[in-house]
Amino acid sequence: MSMNMRDMEQLFKKMGGVAKYRAPNSGAKALVLLSGGMDSAVTLYFAKTLGWDVAHALTFNYGQSHTKETEAAAEIAELADVPLTVLNIASITSVLTRGESALTDHSIDIPETAEAPTQIPPTYVPLRNPLLLTLAGQFAFREDIKGIFIGANAVDYSGYPDCRPEFMHAFDVMINLAVADTGKSFYVVAPIIDITKGEIVKLGQSLNVPWDLTWSCYRGGEEPCGECASCELRAKGFAEAGVKDTALPIKDDPLNIVSTEKAPQTTPTLSSADADPNKEDVDID
Ligand SMILES: [Zn+2]
Repeated sequence: MSMNMRDMEQLFKKMGGVAKYRAPNSGAKALVLLSGGMDSAVTLYFAKTLGWDVAHALTFNYGQSHTKETEAAAEIAELADVPLTVLNIASITSVLTRGESALTDHSIDIPETAEAPTQIPPTYVPLRNPLLLTLAGQFAFREDIKGIFIGANAVDYSGYPDCRPEFMHAFDVMINLAVADTGKSFYVVAPIIDITKGEIVKLGQSLNVPWDLTWSCYRGGEEPCGECASCELRAKGFAEAGVKDTALPIKDDPLNIVSTEKAPQTTPTLSSADADPNKEDVDID
């Protein structure tokens, strides 16, 4: 199942129009923070259709308990033909966030439900996004990259404060102040911040995002655990979109689509992954 043009128009309207995500000029370079999860993969594929020259992807090892995410990021970047740099900041974050996050302090339990958290969940890594975006900014400064894309989402996510639009706007202002008078400036772009997980899946499906390469599970097992908050949110998104999650083992496919129809290999309505990034084929503003 994929999105028809009408669905797409509605989604872009909800996103405040596509114009604000576009490259400011042809050939403008962008980097994408690529965690290996579905949101950052969709963000990478989306950036490619918006006139940006996606020149680089950055993945951070900040002390996660497993390497599945960084392995996934490497595979996604390779398929998308985008050079990837993995930055290892685990020695810093493991000290500075000790006792504060279930993702970096493995003595803290990973929560098993994604049900509307009433408080900031234990998987929150304090100030992770400002840290990663600042490092991305340093990289972008050196490489003459203007666009810094991040797949943060504030709707169907765990309620991390540094994934909210207010933070992204403030960071965009802050990072530009931090490089004022150097001749450099940046666009901090979080295109999927305001849409639901189901809408992210629909968007990604239309862009032919390789779901099977993405990794969302907080745990580092052979296969996604299907029980952690991240797995739950992901399943909810695919169910809402009516799309089969090709990262799941067939037995766990909640929609049981695999046995009745071929894996959705739809004609992208936006652009194919390897289309000319300068081609203007998203014309909904
Ligand atoms: Zn999981």
